Amino acid sequence: APHDAGAPGGASGRGGAPAASTDPGTEFAETFAVVDPGAPALSVGELSTQRGDGIFESIGVVDGHAQEVEAHLERLAHSAQLCDLPAPNLAQWREAVAAAASQCPAGECVIKLILSRGIEHGPTPTAWVTATEAADFTRARAGIRVVTLDRGFDSGAPARAPWLLLGAKTLSYAVNMAAIREAHRRGADDAIFLSSDGVVLEGPTSSVIVRRGDRFTTPAPGAGILHGTTQLSVFAHLEHLGFETAYETIPATALATADAAWLVSSVRLAAPILSIDGHPLAVDAAFSAALNEYLLSPRD
Ligand code: PLP
Repeated sequence: APHDAGAPGGASGRGGAPAASTDPGTEFAETFAVVDPGAPALSVGELSTQRGDGIFESIGVVDGHAQEVEAHLERLAHSAQLCDLPAPNLAQWREAVAAAASQCPAGECVIKLILSRGIEHGPTPTAWVTATEAADFTRARAGIRVVTLDRGFDSGAPARAPWLLLGAKTLSYAVNMAAIREAHRRGADDAIFLSSDGVVLEGPTSSVIVRRGDRFTTPAPGAGILHGTTQLSVFAHLEHLGFETAYETIPATALATADAAWLVSSVRLAAPILSIDGHPLAVDAAFSAALNEYLLSPRD
């Protein structure tokens, strides 16, 4: 059932009567319901399932602590704006994240926030939260092989065609998943998207960080790529350690000569790159392990 616009909830509540998106008086308890994940919950009319028309966030949870919740909520609000969805009710999302985190067992989990445009011709968006145990990323955290893949857009496309929603974390991830399958077909673990004019963008589910000496860079989060919450957190940590960080245009040709590079994301965390298109890259195992130790510590 639909809920207060942009507020998370389960499949029942309010006796089925949706609240208007402008209703300021809707209490979290009235909009939120815990549902059985094995039982039917979504309507077949859901535009998230029919068209991938919605947005999401994946938040890492370590021993019950949801990491960087505010950065994720900020990005959710940004994605909503780009997609002309109502502004998320952040106070209610915070409560929903806390409710989900309280159900997470010790170890690593993932909380997903989903805001769908709702039921076709329906009055409001649909929102829900899931909590599941994370996969074991021990191997990826030791090193991954990546290939570069053309995203098919030049660097000017995001500004020229904002309806491509390139800076929003939308539910339309079929292309991102296809890129990972293509990477597997090429004998690699993951991919780095390049613009058609040869500029480094991001991974299908991660940000790229490149090291040269004591300087770490990542592509600027313009309209073309997501601003990674993990990259933000890693940069703050590196600056604290005295390293230099910068957002800059990274030509694809610069990857092969980097001292090191990582794909970073909220749940897999920092995956050091062993090779790019078959060319080996140095991995400082101790440095990467320390980065992941930091990323596994409670962060707000
Ligand atoms: N870029 C894309 C396309 C992503 O899907 C993700 C996360 O899934 C990221 C970057 C990294 O974002 P975060 O560090 O917030 O997980």
